[in-house]
Amino acid sequence: MRKSVACGFILLLIAANVVFSAQEENPLLIKVKPAKLTPLKKEALAWVDAASPELSKLNDEIWRAAEVAMEEYRSAEALASYLEEMGFAVERGVAGLPTAFVGVYGSGQPVIGFLAEYDALPSLSQEAVTSKKPVKEGAPGHGCGHNIFGVASTAAAVAVKDVMARHGIPGTLKVFGCPAEETVEGKAFMARAGLFDGLSCCIQWHPSSENSVSLESSNALNQFELEFSGRTAHSAGDPWHGRSALDAVELTDIGLNFLREHLKPTARIHYVIQDGGKAPNVVPDYARAWYYVRDVDRESVEKDYERVLKIIDGAAKMTETTYKIHFKSGVHETLANRAGSEVVYANLLLIGAPAFTEEEQSFAKEIQKDIGVEEKGLSTKIEPFSHPEKSWGSGSTDVAEVSWLTPTTSLGVAFTPTGTPGHHWAAVACGGMSIGHKCLATAAKVMAASCLDFLSQPEIIQRMREEWTARKKGREYQSPLPADLKPRVVPKKEEPS
Ligand SMILES: [Zn+2]
Repeated sequence: MRKSVACGFILLLIAANVVFSAQEENPLLIKVKPAKLTPLKKEALAWVDAASPELSKLNDEIWRAAEVAMEEYRSAEALASYLEEMGFAVERGVAGLPTAFVGVYGSGQPVIGFLAEYDALPSLSQEAVTSKKPVKEGAPGHGCGHNIFGVASTAAAVAVKDVMARHGIPGTLKVFGCPAEETVEGKAFMARAGLFDGLSCCIQWHPSSENSVSLESSNALNQFELEFSGRTAHSAGDPWHGRSALDAVELTDIGLNFLREHLKPTARIHYVIQDGGKAPNVVPDYARAWYYVRDVDRESVEKDYERVLKIIDGAAKMTETTYKIHFKSGVHETLANRAGSEVVYANLLLIGAPAFTEEEQSFAKEIQKDIGVEEKGLSTKIEPFSHPEKSWGSGSTDVAEVSWLTPTTSLGVAFTPTGTPGHHWAAVACGGMSIGHKCLATAAKVMAASCLDFLSQPEIIQRMREEWTARKKGREYQSPLPADLKPRVVPKKEEPS
């Protein structure tokens, strides 16, 4: 089976890069001036600088733990206990997810959210060196930089809290510890549980190969596992007694591949066969496959999905087998927010891209040489801010659910060498050393400064909310998850002694 589920957000950032860099005279360009450096922002930035050694240590701890989706016990606890130390009230195990938490500081309006992710990817174990070298063969690794993601969001909130406490600024900060982004699960369950209700707006980001703020959307998605049960028999001796579950999977897939022609070009269907039987001379009485159905918006996914279900039913009839569908998760398309993202972009211009040293650039170039891509090092420029050219054909993310519940901003900060693939050992290597630490500090500063703008200028949040209401076009959030679907809980493993 394929090694991992594509993390949608990094794909979006890569797609945005292609669009922007191809057009110097971009008619879609949005002109934004750098934000002002206010005294309050100076304090927040100074806090991040002073806390940097501690934040880098926290980053490295989560990088080393490298826990995959729903198993992020140590990573979630590291962030939750740090928030507690810093004066946040933390509730753990929210929405039935043992590795999700919410940390709250302050009271009253506005209520500003920060999203923190921390899940790793399977089989990407890697030391912080310039060629492929797993710490432990086959173990997980932070190939999407979610170690930096979680710590930077947490740090931004704590930096703002520090300023709010000192100056008696009213408002509430909520840090959401969001597990299982890579499997597009965590925030879908958190959204269904109402955790994101009542937010004035939400700030989020993603580690990237570039420094940018994107207004791209993402694909809506349904994902499910399909199990067929049949009857076994000797494949040569008495196959007429057999009813092959594998045949049912294959006929489903053939049906889906014919269906593609009659779906809109925006639809994307992919699958892996996880269990297709054990031996050719035994008719498989059990088979299992995993499917993704994506499209440009929720409504389209639901229409596509209905047709997929008919094909599955048809395959069962043809093979005289029975089937069960295990719905895993579903998400919406992301609602971008220009009003909020403009403020984040202005603060990115103010803070500037991470200043990487010559050693760090050499480290990145060594990796590029090893992979065979152009040795351009790490990006130190800020990409232009523009309207997206398109909003389909990319990955999916559970951040989309949050964007339907409150205006949500975006940000990408560079930590992977330009031109290297996403979900790759190169990202793991860079995320566990000083390159990752610099990305972390920049992201935390940009988000903290943006949050201070949101707190001090209520008219920004008002504009964000007006835009958000317009983008929803009268549609209210409805969870794509069936009401009786419980989160996939993975019990905590014993600590290695
Ligand atoms: Zn990611």
